Amino acid sequence: MREFEAHVRRFLDRVPAEILALEVDDVTRSARWHRALHEAGLAAIAYPRRFGGAGLTPAHQELFDRLASQRRLPVSRHGIGIGMVYPTLVEHGGDELRRKYLVPLLRGEDLWCQLYSEPGAGSDLASLQTRAVRDGDVFRVTGQKVWTSGAAEADLGIAIVRTNVDVPKHRGITMMVIDMRQPGVTVRPLRQMTGVSEFNEVFLDEVVVPVSDVVGDVDRGWRLAVALLHNERRSLGTGRGGRQPASFEWLVEAARDRGLTGDRLIRQELAWVHSANLILSWLKARSEASAEAGRGPGPEGSVGKLWRTRLGRRAAALGGRIVGSAAIAGPAGDGGVDRWAYVMCDAPGMSLGGGTDEIQRNTIGEKVLGLPREPSVDREVPFRDLLTGKHTPTGTP
Ligand SMILES: Cc1cc2nc3c(=O)[nH]c(=O)nc-3n(C[C@H](O)[C@H](O)[C@H](O)COP(=O)(O)OP(=O)(O)OC[C@H]3O[C@@H](n4cnc5c(N)ncnc54)[C@H](O)[C@@H]3O)c2cc1C
Repeated sequence: MREFEAHVRRFLDRVPAEILALEVDDVTRSARWHRALHEAGLAAIAYPRRFGGAGLTPAHQELFDRLASQRRLPVSRHGIGIGMVYPTLVEHGGDELRRKYLVPLLRGEDLWCQLYSEPGAGSDLASLQTRAVRDGDVFRVTGQKVWTSGAAEADLGIAIVRTNVDVPKHRGITMMVIDMRQPGVTVRPLRQMTGVSEFNEVFLDEVVVPVSDVVGDVDRGWRLAVALLHNERRSLGTGRGGRQPASFEWLVEAARDRGLTGDRLIRQELAWVHSANLILSWLKARSEASAEAGRGPGPEGSVGKLWRTRLGRRAAALGGRIVGSAAIAGPAGDGGVDRWAYVMCDAPGMSLGGGTDEIQRNTIGEKVLGLPREPSVDREVPFRDLLTGKHTPTGTP
């Protein structure tokens, strides 16, 4: 472990700064970062070498995360691939898909997006209407996805689509890999209140997917869809993926700059953020321990995701309180002010992306605490007999 630590320290001393200094766009910078991690044996640290990982243990990953969290690192734009698609393909992908996708994914050569949500299927994801019809050796996929983060830059999408309308909604779903660079894929960016277009509408019009790019079995994709969501929540909860809460250090710096470190109410909130960060690190340690014991990510990932969201929203509100009206009315281009305007507008999205707070609470209630399941009247009804199943999906914008 000591040798590994020395290797990580040497890497972190040199490589992040070199990559941050590159004059390239942020997707290219992120790709260079992941390639460097992979070349240094620091990608997928706890995964076997045959899957492109480093073949070490979760304790090594934990050590890397701890050391890395103390440094300024390039921002990763490859989080969906690395945090969600990679573990799902390792577990459920089969040899051909693993060979084809895992290493390019870890090396930042392919940028992935997640094609799950639709205009009529968010929390109730199993109501999705995007249809895939078998045509010889391929499926032809038609429909619309929405809120797809990173779709405008993505090379590949992990999609869930409907392949059978004659069975109840959870049963006729298939997971597949969609090549985002092919004709028939139209991506329309959506502008968020931060001013950034991070997510998109995606229209799929007779898009071609080889049968060999189906993950798992046709019509049995719901289980995999849920497995990927657990990986997503673990990734969001442990802080390896998704939006980062405003850091404690930023908040203290902002309070110092404005002479507010003696203000009792500000101090009280700062103490809350500090404590919440500690709790988050313990939740993360628990998740690592469960990985070390060979247990996959389960519904308890929702606890971490929910807590991180609460921390992110309260830290953003505190930032706004410290900076005051300058956070929204201050001069554009002033880094200190712009940062807080962005953080405040961005934080509410944490309650939605990866499943809303209410859905996390439902999951915790049902799957962790063993409370009775939510009533559901459409669980056993064939999809084609549901109102939502009667619509014909269109893939044109
Ligand atoms: C920043 C961001 C990034 C995203 N990135 C992606 C992405 O890359 N790929 C992707 O596929 N999706 C993405 N999403 C979409 C996200 O997964 C959905 O917004 C989310 O699942 C909620 O779906 P919805 O927006 O349709 O809301 P709805 O499901 O319509 O929910 C509306 C409200 O009703 C509540 N509600 C719904 N059902 C229940 C219930 N059973 N019990 C209690 N309350 C309920 C919800 O909590 C919510 O408050 C992203 C969203 C955001 C904000």
